[in-house]
Amino acid sequence: MLLIISGPSGVGKTTITRAIERAVVGSVFSVSVTTRQKTVDDAEGVDYRFVTDEQFEQMVANDELLEHADVFGKKYGTPRDLVEEHLSEGRLVILEIDVNGAEQVKAKMPDAFGLFIEPPSEDVLLDRLRARNREDEDSIQKRFAEAKREISVAKSGDVYSAFIVNKNLEAAINETLRLIRQARAALHANS
Ligand code: 5GP
Repeated sequence: MLLIISGPSGVGKTTITRAIERAVVGSVFSVSVTTRQKTVDDAEGVDYRFVTDEQFEQMVANDELLEHADVFGKKYGTPRDLVEEHLSEGRLVILEIDVNGAEQVKAKMPDAFGLFIEPPSEDVLLDRLRARNREDEDSIQKRFAEAKREISVAKSGDVYSAFIVNKNLEAAINETLRLIRQARAALHANS
């Protein structure tokens, strides 16, 4: 099954995604390519493959990306080959991508299962963005505004089957796992 996990930055979706990867045997996290700067928290080839604008454009031209989008002025995309290979092996393939990319994937692969992670409130989200200590206040405010926009776009579309409020991390992980198991069982029952 192809799983799409989206949610605004600072909502805890990377932590949830990595927990799912550990909990579901045989699941794989799809490592995206991006033109954004690598930070000290990023491991090359594990969190992202960091590429130049030219390399990214070449991948788009070669139709190597399943989807791609601009997020905060940088390019992000999902390499198609590994996703297809792992799906054909019957694995759970996890895409952690934005709303725009999720719409593209869902249009191509309607069986993809979309989950959106939400903050308990706007105030909590703003606090979490500040606590990451990754950006200056101006960037934090931009991410905050973008987060509010993403949540409203996600709620008005039909890409996501469920919205999970990350108030308590353990509860959010358990709820995500429950929904994934339910969706996989439904897919098997229909196949
Ligand atoms: P960050 O730079 O904070 O790791 O990620 C910024 C945003 O880009 C997040 O919302 C993340 O989900 C999204 N993102 C990461 N990889 C991809 C991708 O391959 N495609 C798309 N469309 N969005 C991505």
